[in-house]
Amino acid sequence: MTPFRNRCQLCYCRLQAGFIAGQQGAANAQLRQRHSTGKANSLRGAADQRLFSGKIERVHGCESRTPVFLEMEFKFSTRSSGKDAVYIIEDAKDAVYPKSLSETEIEYVRRMVKDDVSIIPINHYDSNLFIVPLPKCDSQELLAEKLRKKGADLCGRINALKLPEVTISNTSSFGEAAIHLAEGLALSSYQFLKYKSEPSKKENRLKTISFEKGTATKAQLADLQTVIDAVYAARTLVNEPLNALTAVDLANAFEKMGKDSGFKVKVLHKKAIEKEGMGGLLAVNLGSQDPPTFTIMEHKPAKALNAKPIVLVGKGVVYDTGGLSLKPTPNSMDRMKSDMSGAALVGAAMQAIAKLNLPLHIIALVPATDNRPGENAYVPGDVITMYSGATVEVLNTDAEGRLLLGDALHWAKRYNPELVLDFATLTGAASVAVGEHGIVCMGTADETVKAQLRAAGERQYERLVEYPLWSEYGDQIKSDVADIKNVGGPSGGAITAGKFLEHFTSYPWMHFDIAGVSFATAKRNYQTIGGTAFGLRMLLDFLQSYTA
Ligand SMILES: [Zn+2]
Repeated sequence: MTPFRNRCQLCYCRLQAGFIAGQQGAANAQLRQRHSTGKANSLRGAADQRLFSGKIERVHGCESRTPVFLEMEFKFSTRSSGKDAVYIIEDAKDAVYPKSLSETEIEYVRRMVKDDVSIIPINHYDSNLFIVPLPKCDSQELLAEKLRKKGADLCGRINALKLPEVTISNTSSFGEAAIHLAEGLALSSYQFLKYKSEPSKKENRLKTISFEKGTATKAQLADLQTVIDAVYAARTLVNEPLNALTAVDLANAFEKMGKDSGFKVKVLHKKAIEKEGMGGLLAVNLGSQDPPTFTIMEHKPAKALNAKPIVLVGKGVVYDTGGLSLKPTPNSMDRMKSDMSGAALVGAAMQAIAKLNLPLHIIALVPATDNRPGENAYVPGDVITMYSGATVEVLNTDAEGRLLLGDALHWAKRYNPELVLDFATLTGAASVAVGEHGIVCMGTADETVKAQLRAAGERQYERLVEYPLWSEYGDQIKSDVADIKNVGGPSGGAITAGKFLEHFTSYPWMHFDIAGVSFATAKRNYQTIGGTAFGLRMLLDFLQSYTA
């Protein structure tokens, strides 16, 4: 391993600016001593050293364990807004062109539009213009999506030119065109550079998206700001690796988000979880050195439309090795820091809900732990007693998400909820079935709610595919020794996982399996590499249009 400049030689974390070589030598000596005083010795490698990360941080003063979320500013254009601009025009003869274009340039744009060129750049010495003809589409939903994708295309061009701000104008017939284009632009400009030695070299310059007056309303801008902030937050939480984000760190991050955005947060730590008897969460945590957490978040406005709360539940497996039913390393374990995508999604949703001050009483629950094959790990064959009192025969320790979700779904009963929505990277089966293009969902909510969810999914292009919860699938999780078992055999895996969860519900409920969509290994349009927050915009759209 080549030592990195400004990196700790022991645990490889980044050192504070100004932490010069001499200090580093002295600090490393201290560290070695600290590392060796713990029960894990240094031979066990870097993985165990994070056990002492609290101490290491005090020595180093390296970056805080609280994730810092990226920001993009949306505002109306002012005189100081740069000259760099994006013009959305009608794809027709009567298109209105920017005044700064000469006759020759307008002729050129007309020719390009005729040739179906998607984005037409016009570079002046003192400004960059991008002409975007409105795409032709059969439906509003598809049109919105095409504009988001054009935003992603623009993002590359704008950041290649290192422009810090662009102003969007819209003279097309589609009133929301600028909002959707800006949404795609902002979504694709997200980056996670925290661990790069020289982040400024890679950083996108674009920090502000301005709107020409009349191009969007104040409310649309506020909405967009809130949604993008939430997506950035969810992506960053997913992108943080386990050695920076344990279950306790995740709970701390939610506490900070609650403080900053104005929602209530209560965290149950290990002792309280034991006292409650959350057998599913505790079983998964047995093989870990780090304690579990159970986070309860609440937004309760004075005049809520719903008498009974809506409860969101997010799977918070901060890392999933599979436990003793160990996953193979390449292409499966290597992205398992994202197994808390459901937790990130509901936490970020609470941030947006509070900032928008939605007139709904909403509670979010996140059971969190990592799933490790440590010394005391639960084993296939174990029979555990869940929080509800139901017994579960564990036949695969990699089917852990449903165990902690079962406990959270049982907890939700105390609120007598109107609706419960859970988000979880639950099964490879869901991922295999619909890939990265949609969310597998299923549940017992009524048809009206399902239709509203589907419509929100179409509008945000985070589409839903509903699977059935036929009783026959329930037979697959019957156990010979316990009430149920945690795997249902090779067929219908996404559904048998859903049937398992259903066992712990007694209210209208929907389950969203986001295993296929939550993490991108390559950029896909406006989904950046890493956490995608896929499903979050659908959820927020649903809640914003919700009528109790
Ligand atoms: Zn698993």
